[in-house]
Amino acid sequence: MATTFYPPQRTLMGPGPSDVSPRVLAALGRPTIGHLDPEFVTLMDEIKGLLQMAFQTDNQLTIPISAPGSAGMEACFVNLLAPGDKAIVCQNGVFGGRMKENVERCGATAIMVEDDWGTPVSVDKVSAAFAAHPDAKVLAFVHAETSTGVESDAAALCKIAADNNALSIMDAVTSLGGIELKVDEWGADAVYSGSQKCLSCVPGISPVTFSPKAVEAIQNRQHKVQSWFLDMQLVMGYWGGDSKRAYHHTAPVNAMYALHESLLMLEEEGLDLAFERHMFHHEALVKGLEAMGLNMLVDQSCRLPQLNLVQIPEGIEDAAVRSALLSQYDLEIGAGLGAFVGKAWRIGLMGQACYQENVLLCLSALDNVLAAQGANHERGAAVAAAMAHYDTVQQ
Ligand SMILES: *Cc1c(COP(=O)(O)O)cnc(C)c1O
Repeated sequence: MATTFYPPQRTLMGPGPSDVSPRVLAALGRPTIGHLDPEFVTLMDEIKGLLQMAFQTDNQLTIPISAPGSAGMEACFVNLLAPGDKAIVCQNGVFGGRMKENVERCGATAIMVEDDWGTPVSVDKVSAAFAAHPDAKVLAFVHAETSTGVESDAAALCKIAADNNALSIMDAVTSLGGIELKVDEWGADAVYSGSQKCLSCVPGISPVTFSPKAVEAIQNRQHKVQSWFLDMQLVMGYWGGDSKRAYHHTAPVNAMYALHESLLMLEEEGLDLAFERHMFHHEALVKGLEAMGLNMLVDQSCRLPQLNLVQIPEGIEDAAVRSALLSQYDLEIGAGLGAFVGKAWRIGLMGQACYQENVLLCLSALDNVLAAQGANHERGAAVAAAMAHYDTVQQ
């Protein structure tokens, strides 16, 4: 017979979900109220304001979609594309491939710009694609590719889109709250994210923001959006700017308490300090991994601090290491995805997972588990190198 489920206490250093703070979990457990209760409507307004802070935007249409990051992705594509449209889609990992799927399911054509796994999107190739397809309506790219740990030049890509009269769709699922993300300054038109990565909230919510230009395009659509649930014209009636809220769907009320709390924590820390914290602990992690003889797979110039791709050394068994970390240390790191299956581990330092105690736990656990697998690195060197970083650099 089934009984109450008590999850183990893990440390989450994979590609998401990341560690959720007790403050956010406490918010989640507060009493459920009606989703049109005036108190909840006030909370919705505050969440919108906090999301504008996080996205660094004044966009009125900045809301959490009641579904995971993949729904945010789909919302951007179905609202901005119609049958017969053309979209330039950049692919340098798994998520660009999903964008292509979305474009095609809208009845639009995807012009692919492909770059190697582990490298950023080539701005020059995107310019060339626009030269060949000046009628492209949308440029879609992933800011922080979680499958490869690579950051692409979002500012430059948004500018190319704007210069070519196209709307930019940016995947910021892993970037929001972890690295600089300036929606207004960069001129991004449709941006989606997720709650469970650097915001360290529970999974299942997707913050999105649409520029005035994107809103205008949505309002001028000739075709009905193919998805009823994700049709922004309808969703706007629920999350809309005025005080009259029309029922659209029942918001996940308690998850919104959690999102609100996680955004408050980000606001209290300050965006700049949050970005610095991610970089600071990333540097400690890298120094430790390298002292153990492990190699980073991504060039330093485009590495994401919040997601670290580490090459799996010769003779080491990928799955055995991850399962030992989980069973002996309650520590989750990510497996490789796509082209990196069996070749890389993905160590996340996202949001509340990005602290010294986690870096040291991860390094010492890997030190032990790899040694048990026959690796002959200098024992203790990893933690010592990370500690040297913590001792010498002023936080
Ligand atoms: C995690 C992730 C998604 C999907 O988010 P879900 O919440 O899992 O649906 C999309 N894009 C990127 C870059 C991601 O890292």
